[in-house]
Order: sequence, then structure tokens, then C-alpha cells
Amino acid sequence: MTKKKETNQNDKIDLKSIKSTELSATAQLIKEYGVNPIKTPAYLAYNAYRKIVGYGLRYANDEMSPKDWREVYGILIGSIEDNKKVMIKDAIPMVVGDRAGVKYENKQYVDMAQIDESIFERSIQDKKNDFIIGWWHTHPGFGFFYSPVDCMTQLGYQIPNPFALGIIFDHTKFLSDEYFIGVAGLRLNNPDQGMLSTYDFVNVEYELEKEQMTKKVKKTVKDINKQMDKVLKELNYIDETLRKRALAQLQRNYGLILVPKKDIKVTKNEFEAEEDENYLYVWDPDFFKKSFRIPKFREKMENEIAKCENLLRKLKQEGIKYDHKKDKCQKKIESLLNKPNEWYNKMMGAFTKCIEKVSSVYDYLDTNERKIIEYFESRSSEYYKILDKLNSRAKFELKN
Ligand SMILES: [Zn+2]
Repeated sequence: MTKKKETNQNDKIDLKSIKSTELSATAQLIKEYGVNPIKTPAYLAYNAYRKIVGYGLRYANDEMSPKDWREVYGILIGSIEDNKKVMIKDAIPMVVGDRAGVKYENKQYVDMAQIDESIFERSIQDKKNDFIIGWWHTHPGFGFFYSPVDCMTQLGYQIPNPFALGIIFDHTKFLSDEYFIGVAGLRLNNPDQGMLSTYDFVNVEYELEKEQMTKKVKKTVKDINKQMDKVLKELNYIDETLRKRALAQLQRNYGLILVPKKDIKVTKNEFEAEEDENYLYVWDPDFFKKSFRIPKFREKMENEIAKCENLLRKLKQEGIKYDHKKDKCQKKIESLLNKPNEWYNKMMGAFTKCIEKVSSVYDYLDTNERKIIEYFESRSSEYYKILDKLNSRAKFELKN
């Protein structure tokens, strides 16, 4: 802000004016926070460190040929303690990039939409005061500095939050004299100057002694490596077999989920969207036929249940043969729901077994890998919500 005013007043920028601008921007921050956020030290918890190293080493390690090394990117979660220390408590792996070091200035490997989504979900789940306090990425074999793209990314974090920092991990500096644990923290000195800003190293304190940090992480990484191949096979099984085949076939043979017709405009209006959600569970064929393809099985079940409900209501009023008929209706509907229940339970049994195997390395999976699990969970629960409702309606406990 100050910079703009000054450059407007006298058109040319010389070194002196930039320097005075720098001072005033920093002075403003100090006035606002009581400290200089740019110089604020950080604390790195082992929990965050193990995820940075664990995910980073999946794509660049000593056993791989350097030409196959790839950079990875993630976010840092934590808090700011009394404006005096940035506490890095967690690190979430997000995405793997292209080959490391090759034209990395140009590459745009960060899918921001995806990241925003996970951040949003996380902030809702956690109910803690922790938030995104920065980002991390790896520089396999090329050390600690900010490329122009890195500067731009850091600006994205540091402009809204002057305390935000970036962590770089380079596994080749692991156990080096200078960077014993392989990481460095960086922050821009003058983010108000955008891409012209210089950067500096942040003083990072570690939760454990350096030797302990590295010793512990090496054991963790060894365990991850042992399991990762198997886990990736499980993920592939969830996606290819459980989702694309089992769930797809369940919906094909015993379709319950309404499939939106392609030409229907997707609404951005939240109220309308919410209404759409409701319609998925409240049976209204006239409305549905306009917007959805209704699966035959769903239509049949809705009709059969409605027929029984009408009959039972009538019998209840007349007070004859009610119990006998209710029993018959129950048995009929339950037998129709028998197969989809059986298929669903079998599918979910297999899914649970997969998740048990995946869970030990879940922390080292990235967005795309976690999405496979999330997507299957959300699709199967969509099916189950309807199935469950039909199951309970098959009991015919009619109100009035
Ligand atoms: Zn970089």
C-alpha cells in the first residue's frame, strides 16, 4: 500500500525508496502484531516431520535413480503461539509433481481446487484452532532456495498470514553437517514487493534432539516402504473392483441411486442444491422423471411398499386381518431386499478389510490416493442411505 503511494508521488523507483518502503511495511507489521512476523521462529513437531519425510521419500530416495526423483507438495497445519512462535504440528501430503529439477520453474503441479477442498473439510472436522500455517515441498538433490514459482506459492500463504512459512525437504542433505535433518524453513522478507521479494531462512526448533528425529523417522520410513506396494494394490482394488465393478453392478441390478440426466444444469445456488439432496430420499416420481433416470429396481420397490402401506392403512381402520397381512407384506418386501442387502454387506466387508490394511500408512497417502477411499465411501453410503430407509419401511410400522 505504502509503496504504491510513494511511487505515484515520484515516478522513478530507486534503491533508496524501496528500502524505505521495506522498513515501513515491516514497521506496520510490527505495529499490528507486536513482533516482526517475518523473523518469528518456528517449532517442528515430529508428527509433521515424519509425514514430510515419509511422503517425500516415496518419490525420491537413495534406492531410486536420480532421474526418476519427483518433487512432492503438501500443507502445514498448526498454530501461532502468542505471536511468538509458529507451531508446526502436522503436515498433510497433497500431490506429487513432475520430475524434479526439470523446468520446475514453469510447472504448475499444484491443483489448488483439490487442496482447497481438503483444507475446507479438515477445518470442519477438526474443531481445533489449528489452521494452515504454511506449505512444504521437496527439492530432491537441489537444496534450499525459493524458485520463482516457490516465491509465488509462498506469497499466496504469506500475504493473508504474515507468519506463514514454507518448509523444504531435501533427502540428500539428510545427515549433512549443515542440514542434519534435511529440512529448512523459508519466508519472504518483503512480501509487499511481490515477486521482487527476497527470502530468508527461518529459525526452526525441533521437537526432539536432531539425532532422535532422524533415527525415529528412518524406522518409520522403513515400515512405510515395506507396506506401500501392498497398500497401493489395495487402493487399486477399491477403485477397480469394489467401485467400478461391485458397486456399479449393485446399482445396475438393484438400482437405488437416482442418476441425474446429463442435460440438467448443475445449480450453484446452495438452497436449490440442498433441495435437490432432499429429493434424492423423498419419493416424488413426477419430479424425478424430469431430472433423473430412475432405476427400475427403485421404482419397483417404491411402488410395492406404497401398495402395502395403502392396504395396511385401510385394514387398520377396518380392524380386520391386519396382523396377518402386515406379516405377509413384511416378508414380501424383505425378500425383495434380500439380494441387495447381501451384496452390499459383502462389498462393505471387503472394503473394511482393505481399510484395515491401508490405515497404518494412511498419513503418507496424498490427495489422489485418499480420494479413492473417500469417493468409494461417499458413493456406497449414498446407496446405503436409501437401502436402509427401504429396510426400515419394510417393517411397516405405520404412523396412524
Ligand atoms: Zn521448489
